[in-house]
Amino acid sequence: MKKIAIIGATGSIGRSALSVIRAHATRFRVTALIGGGNAAALAAQIAEFQPPVAALRDEKAARALARDFPGTKIYGGETGIAECLPASGAEICVSAFGGIAGLLPTLTAMDCGMDIALANKETLVAAGEIVKRRARLRGVKILPVDSEHSALRQCLAGCEISRVRRAIITASGGAFLHWTNLSAVTPAAALNHPTWSMGKKITIDSATLANKALETIEAHFLFDLPYDKIEVWIHPQSVVHGAVEFIDGALVAQLAVPDMRLPILQALSGGEHLPDGVPPLTLAQIANLTFAAPDAEKYPLLRLGLTAGRQGGLAPAVFSAANEAAALAFLAGEIRYPQIAASVEKCLERVPSGEATLENILSADRAAAAFCRAEIERS
Ligand code: MG
Repeated sequence: MKKIAIIGATGSIGRSALSVIRAHATRFRVTALIGGGNAAALAAQIAEFQPPVAALRDEKAARALARDFPGTKIYGGETGIAECLPASGAEICVSAFGGIAGLLPTLTAMDCGMDIALANKETLVAAGEIVKRRARLRGVKILPVDSEHSALRQCLAGCEISRVRRAIITASGGAFLHWTNLSAVTPAAALNHPTWSMGKKITIDSATLANKALETIEAHFLFDLPYDKIEVWIHPQSVVHGAVEFIDGALVAQLAVPDMRLPILQALSGGEHLPDGVPPLTLAQIANLTFAAPDAEKYPLLRLGLTAGRQGGLAPAVFSAANEAAALAFLAGEIRYPQIAASVEKCLERVPSGEATLENILSADRAAAAFCRAEIERS
């Protein structure tokens, strides 16, 4: 039985991961459940999966949980999370905290020798070089949970990157694909995603295509792909998740129903094709697939994010933090939709110089989020 730790157990990916584990109970066992502040949801998961250890970022809630579950050792706070991981004895860690909060626990899990089933985007976007170096040093694998990167990994099938002409990741185009005037859209409309059911912030990122900028940066680090070789295609049906064109002209694509349980199962299994993943595609589902290049005018955050990726250094961390602050402000009704990109652009004018060390990344993240918040309050 493969032992699994889940960071971000109560979020959207964490819950999907647990449903995969539940369906493959003879193969996988949960040995650590780690949550942020949702004590009630974590309690229900501890009751069902009975892991030897668990942790909650909220220390007070963690103490209350410890009283309710004497059979599970419960840790609290950031240091508790760092102590819980080595105590879990897990072989693989699902990294699914939202935001930059996922970075340090992911590095801790690597230091414990765990392979990483990576769902947290900021880990690679903000600290790609550091994370890759750490994976090499500890001899652990980074297995993408994102559907596009899981698709690319399956298409590449271990082939040398020098044999790749281009890699393609697809975007549904989000809730506003067919809208022409985006100045008055509401958070509720943006949250109405046509094909995927996900957390709120990532659904906004899907509408703005900030998500594809983050995923392009991730693909660059995950597969050592130069930015010139990564393309984003709009594909509203979300059936083709990624494709790789090789230098001989062969274009290999991965198709599946849009369901996160498949990339999660792929990551947990270490890239094996196990039974009982997701329902098969019907002929009707693949009969009418369409593809188009994204409209640069309509999706300014894609351009901004790709520029930040190419710039490298601390720019991807600034892009990611500013985009998060702006997307959350839009969700809270504080700014209008076009101001998400406008605020991010302002933040990117102030990327600090300096090496992408862990300390500089974390401080660039804080500074960009604070600057973006101040911009929003001024507007
Ligand atoms: Mg994705």
